[in-house]
Amino acid sequence: ITEAEQAVLDEIEEKDVDFLRLQFTDILGTVKNVSVPARQAEKAFSEGIYFDGSSIEGFVRIQESDMRLVPDPDTFAILPWRQKEGSAAARMICDVYNTSTGEPFEGDPRRVLKNALERAEDLGYEVNAAPEPEFFLFEEDEEGRATTKTNDAGGYFDLAPKDLASDVRRDIIYGLEDMGFEIEASHHEVAEGQHEINFEYDDALATADNVATFRTVVRAIAAQHDLHATFMPKPIPKINGSGMHTHFSLFEDGENAFHDEDDEFNLSDEAHSFLAGILEHAPAITAVANPTVNSYKRLVPGYEAPVYVAWSDRNRSALIRKPAARTPAASRVELRSPDPSCNPYLAFAVMIHAGLDGIEKDLECPDPVRENIYEFDEQKREEYGIETLPSNLGEAVQALEEDEAIYSALGEHVAPKFVEAKSQEFEEYLVDVSQWELDRYLETF
Ligand code: GLU
Ligand code: MG
Ligand code: MG
Repeated sequence: ITEAEQAVLDEIEEKDVDFLRLQFTDILGTVKNVSVPARQAEKAFSEGIYFDGSSIEGFVRIQESDMRLVPDPDTFAILPWRQKEGSAAARMICDVYNTSTGEPFEGDPRRVLKNALERAEDLGYEVNAAPEPEFFLFEEDEEGRATTKTNDAGGYFDLAPKDLASDVRRDIIYGLEDMGFEIEASHHEVAEGQHEINFEYDDALATADNVATFRTVVRAIAAQHDLHATFMPKPIPKINGSGMHTHFSLFEDGENAFHDEDDEFNLSDEAHSFLAGILEHAPAITAVANPTVNSYKRLVPGYEAPVYVAWSDRNRSALIRKPAARTPAASRVELRSPDPSCNPYLAFAVMIHAGLDGIEKDLECPDPVRENIYEFDEQKREEYGIETLPSNLGEAVQALEEDEAIYSALGEHVAPKFVEAKSQEFEEYLVDVSQWELDRYLETF
């Protein structure tokens, strides 16, 4: 038993924790958990907890279904919405192991991200990431089911009383803080009913864990207010959708390797190559960072979401932005395409691999584009050499299959399963008849 594990055992004792939720994420990004009595914590650390992986999306084939969960003591947190007098529940995020080989299971998204971080480490880098998840708060109907009726009519940075959700947001923030989050800012987003809460950057693994936790906490606390929180990228047409812009920087020996005082953009050569790598692999990344049919309803011109493969130090119509940095440590690049329906482990993994590929191959970074690209016509885009992101899930999955570097970044287990699941999802969508079609054609023909 390690020191960190002992600290968890002590805390379980001290805070009357009765139940432990052992948590992990499937390939599609859904958080799964098994609950065990807290007295099994020591056994969980030393032996792991066995579970049947055949029922988890894309994990294993039926005949090799036994998996082992080993909790990461650094992720121990009391669930604030399950606390009662003299009794509490806590969770820990787990790594998944293969019972027959005893090795980490390659189908575990957390493992896929760790592989990316090991590649960075071999090059001497530590990867920091900070996401900006946006979400909508909707009212529930009488049966408690989600509607798309927003509970307020506020806009960007509006204050109460128009921003009726500020109470809910405050409770969400308390909940997140109870679970160890360092909250930087929260605000009402552009669309009615839309919100954003930013938390402090951390190493990429901790940040991916935080995204998974964030979605759980936001939904649980919204539900206590009889509201449904959704991370669906574009729940309402013709207004802004929800993104999860992600900021990256690489640190080397404790210093920000992305910062260069003398560069026009304060970005180092490494940062420029990292950026070039992401631009190069952008179509394939999209399949993982924007993994739903609905994701592509967000990636359209006019709603502050990216459509074009370009970078900028100014405007928000580009795929990558270089935000103003107050200190050298804050020099970073912001990727604006990801949306909060993605599996954060897989999405961070492919973005990091793409960037490192740029560094290893010393890719040339194009010039930034300072004009509003939404207003460019095709000819002007051609002139500037600006490509367009895939326009639907089918195209994105195809781009993923064609990009060897990104496909293999997902690993032998996850890549084919992911492609299979997403191809099926897209085909199902293609043969469906939507409300839009009925409204448009039913009475016309
Ligand atoms: N909601 C916008 C998006 O879909 C982003 C708005 C912002 O810049 O924060 O990405
Ligand atoms: Mg935002
Ligand atoms: Mg942003």
